[in-house]
Amino acid sequence: MYRFLKYMRRSFATRLYQKYQTIDPKAPIASFTFDDSYGCTFENAGDVLWEKEMRGTFYVSFKFLGLKSQPGFQLAQLKRAINQGHEIGCHTYGHIDLSQVGRNKAIQDIEYNQHRFQQLFPGMKFQNFSFPFGSETYPIKKYVGERFCSARGNRHGINFGNVDMANLKSIKLYESKYTLRDIEHKLDHALEHNAWIIFHTHDVQKNHTQYGCSPEFLERVTDACQKRAFDVRSIEEAQNLLFKPIHKLHFSKVGS
Ligand SMILES: [Zn+2]
Repeated sequence: MYRFLKYMRRSFATRLYQKYQTIDPKAPIASFTFDDSYGCTFENAGDVLWEKEMRGTFYVSFKFLGLKSQPGFQLAQLKRAINQGHEIGCHTYGHIDLSQVGRNKAIQDIEYNQHRFQQLFPGMKFQNFSFPFGSETYPIKKYVGERFCSARGNRHGINFGNVDMANLKSIKLYESKYTLRDIEHKLDHALEHNAWIIFHTHDVQKNHTQYGCSPEFLERVTDACQKRAFDVRSIEEAQNLLFKPIHKLHFSKVGS
């Protein structure tokens, strides 16, 4: 019954509020995203991407700051990811199931996460959001759609043509569930449609959970993206490519 209600709420949310934008990238785009704030992910995934001059998006819940458990992370690990140029996105403060709380409680929690981020890194603002457990309800999806540039769910698929920016589709990078060959099929499919493929996973470490993958697996997937000439970008960078016209291409510095 609970699952049925959740399903109904989610399908209402999806249909009642949509933030459509048409995407037509010059080359297919791949984004790597990480949920839940695992310290190991900041380090391991951060390094894999950074070594290839790629940027990822880490959706953070500040509730996990300072915890030694998994998920859990230390401030130094987050700083390291920021210094490598990765994007930090919002995943609510308390990692709450948004289908189980009212609109006000949800907004309070999301804004508190922003508050903590700004306290620790003055001037930094979340641009993008991911729904914990992929849970959405109509009022919350609408709020999130207006508050953030994008929101990623866990709806399976690739993004092309007319895309709901308030519920971007994604492909799970769960090593226990999918082989590299499976992921390569998804990439070929995205290539065919000139799509934006967004991967999501959780812990990136040698002994990963069923919701994560090893650093080697992540690296092999980035190799597969490069082999197919995907433009690998964070969620924020991808939107800059897709929606913002590039001005001043031949801009020259004044006074230097
Ligand atoms: Zn989560």
